[in-house]
Amino acid sequence: MDESDKAYLRKLNSMDSFTSLSSFSTSQTSSSSFMSKSLSLKPDGSPDLKNDNKCHICDKKFSLTNRRHHCRYCGNSICEDHSIKRRVNGEAKKIRMCDNCDREIISGEIKDEIENEISRLQNEVQLVRELNERLAKEHSEKFSKVNNLEAELTNAEKAQKQKEQTLQDKLNLELERGEKARAEVDELRRALEQSHTCEREIGDKCTAYEARLANLKSESETLRERKEELINQVEHLTNKLKGSLPLDQIKMVLCPRCQQKLNQTYRPFSMNGSVLEDEGES
Ligand SMILES: [Zn+2]
Ligand SMILES: [Zn+2]
Ligand SMILES: [Zn+2]
Repeated sequence: MDESDKAYLRKLNSMDSFTSLSSFSTSQTSSSSFMSKSLSLKPDGSPDLKNDNKCHICDKKFSLTNRRHHCRYCGNSICEDHSIKRRVNGEAKKIRMCDNCDREIISGEIKDEIENEISRLQNEVQLVRELNERLAKEHSEKFSKVNNLEAELTNAEKAQKQKEQTLQDKLNLELERGEKARAEVDELRRALEQSHTCEREIGDKCTAYEARLANLKSESETLRERKEELINQVEHLTNKLKGSLPLDQIKMVLCPRCQQKLNQTYRPFSMNGSVLEDEGES
């Protein structure tokens, strides 16, 4: 609504008093019709002149000092005092008129003016009403547009919040999964480290066992060699003893001195009940 619209509305408020005048004007007879109500006009538009013996307005009788005159509008007989007004007619001539006609014409003119003003104001009022209706319609349209926009905005905000909530939920779920996965990875790493430690321990044990095995093998080899050596010695001694006598029988054939010597020499070594032949007789 701009400044000119506001000015129109202000005018509309101040004009309510004028609208009541319109009913007044329509109830009154139009000023242009007053002359035709009781007059018989001649073809040139002037009235028939009446020759009464007294003034139509004051009833004063006409005489030599009170001369009769005629009103050129109503045609009635009028004294000088009640017909001093003049008026210019259609042929630009000043003509006499009675006070009644003068009053009636003036009031008709005023009425015409008022009616013109009223009709002008009524038009303005109509224009302002139309403007007002237009503005009210525009206002209501804008209002409903604003409401629609607000509703759209509210819906959009709601949808946005839902989206955000959904995303937040997903994010939380992912974070939870991530934490679980991290925990699983940590656990696996610990298990792996434990298995590495076990592996190292087992490796160390293996190395120790291998070393011990090697020792045992070498010991076993030594023992085997010694056993073979002993077996060889035994074989050698056995071969040497073949054909010799048992120690008891030898002792029985020896003298007591030789028996003693034999006992001293071969006491610690006794095998298969035989003694070495060459060492026994030295
Ligand atoms: Zn008179
Ligand atoms: Zn008159
Ligand atoms: Zn002897």
